[in-house]
Amino acid sequence: MPIGPTELAHFWDLAPSGHAVIDEHGILLATNRTLADWMGEPAAALAGRPASDLFTSTARVLYLGLLAYRLAERGRAEEVHLELAVLGAPPLPVLCSGRRIRYRGAHLILLTLQEFSRKHALEKEMLASRQASERVLSQREAAIAELESLGRTLEARRLELEAINQRLGHEATTDPLTGLPNRRRLDEALLGAIRHGESRSHHGSFSLALLDVDHFKQINDRHGHSAGDRVLARLAALLEATLRGDDLAARIGGEEFALLMPHTPMPAARSAMQRLLEAIRAHDWEGLRVTVSSGLTDFRPGDTPQTMLERADRALYAAKAAGRDRIADG
Ligand code: GH3
Ligand code: MG
Ligand code: MG
Repeated sequence: MPIGPTELAHFWDLAPSGHAVIDEHGILLATNRTLADWMGEPAAALAGRPASDLFTSTARVLYLGLLAYRLAERGRAEEVHLELAVLGAPPLPVLCSGRRIRYRGAHLILLTLQEFSRKHALEKEMLASRQASERVLSQREAAIAELESLGRTLEARRLELEAINQRLGHEATTDPLTGLPNRRRLDEALLGAIRHGESRSHHGSFSLALLDVDHFKQINDRHGHSAGDRVLARLAALLEATLRGDDLAARIGGEEFALLMPHTPMPAARSAMQRLLEAIRAHDWEGLRVTVSSGLTDFRPGDTPQTMLERADRALYAAKAAGRDRIADG
């Protein structure tokens, strides 16, 4: 089927975009039906009116300032976003492009308008997605802050537990009256020293002394239990003053102490004990007479804590039997 000028004019009317022809004074000469339908007015009613009347007051400023200016300057303008002032309805967003042409000695402007009603939907979608990502971000930050505060609480709890453990460990191995290590610590240290000695397996590599206060019951009986306690505390201080290197002094019973002397063979240990007994004798006990007896022994291959303690105990008994205030070897 041949397509002539009549068909073309008809197709122009039915085009899916709006079209307008504008004269050099900006007056609408013709609009297609699509544009007239958008505007809600017959095409004939639009002809003769300023083209700027098509637009809302805000869009008019853009039309005159940008689109019309570009057309006058460069002869073309592309995809300027404007809004049609539709009669009795909300403004209709359009993308507007134009060409300036010469026709029969005059300048005309051809305007094409494409519906852009998706603009609001797109803007809404963009806004919603921006809000959503902001929400996610702030939730993430809140979660991180919560995790950090949980981490701090956990760390504080861990430190608390560590301190409690340390205190419990200290309390479990310390004698409260004298502050010296207790029997449990001595047993551990003695076992450690024996294992060390065994691995080197050499006779006399370290020494152990047991000490017992002489006639301590009398001190209690004559001067009271708290005077006895004070004597025990001072004895502990004298013992600690005698310590060297990794020596360990422990209170292992009522008025009984032990001195573990690693890396110390018997002769050196004996001199150390003699100096200690001398210091105890020389100490100002505020009118009391305080002496101790001691049983001394050294490591022998095959020893256990028990065999060493038994030997030291027998030696201590011998020191008592021999008149007290002395050291006996075992
Ligand atoms: P020996 O020379 O034979 O060792 O005579 P002793 O009197 O020291 O021995 P005994 O074992 O008869 O007495 C030990 C006393 O130590 C008896 C007990 O009441 C006292 N004692 C035990 N523990 C403590 C304590 O923590 N504080 C005080 N003040 N006295 C204690
Ligand atoms: Mg005793
Ligand atoms: Mg005693």
